[in-house]
Amino acid sequence: MSVEMESRSSNEQFARVVTAVFLSRMDPTVEELDDVKTAVSEAVTNCIIHGYEGGGGTIRLEAEIDGREATVRITDQGVGIADVKKAMEPLYTTKPSEERSGMGFSFMEAFMDELEVESKPGEGTTVTMKKRMGKEEA
Ligand code: ATP
Ligand code: MG
Repeated sequence: MSVEMESRSSNEQFARVVTAVFLSRMDPTVEELDDVKTAVSEAVTNCIIHGYEGGGGTIRLEAEIDGREATVRITDQGVGIADVKKAMEPLYTTKPSEERSGMGFSFMEAFMDELEVESKPGEGTTVTMKKRMGKEEA
């Protein structure tokens, strides 16, 4: 599954729902699906607020199913992150004044089994997350 959406906050809900509908064929528990939706929200919000800094841009959402493993990838072509390792530290935020708590990446890490962040300043950011879920082969 691959969809592109405009970088605007109303699309955060769209990204959550479309991901949940796509992954529902894995027969996940409500809790598993909630975890993925939370992680997707955090990643998409980061694209909107940080990647495109509230301006325009395109966010790509991709998902695939391999047996019991779901992979979700969220990409922006925004400002990028200079120091990914530092950005992923709990409580680290570059926008402390805007009520950001710096916990987005920590939530993604907690709710998913794997989290990988690739980014280049000036080129954009890709967040790839994996989670095992459901009972049967999809
Ligand atoms: P919170 O998610 O708790 O509201 P936050 O967004 O600042 O706060 P994280 O989601 O953990 O915290 O992100 C940490 C930092 O990484 C951000 O403050 C920002 O500097 C950088 N960052 C994250 N995602 C992106 C992105 N898509 N593009 C550019 N910078 C990003
Ligand atoms: Mg965040």
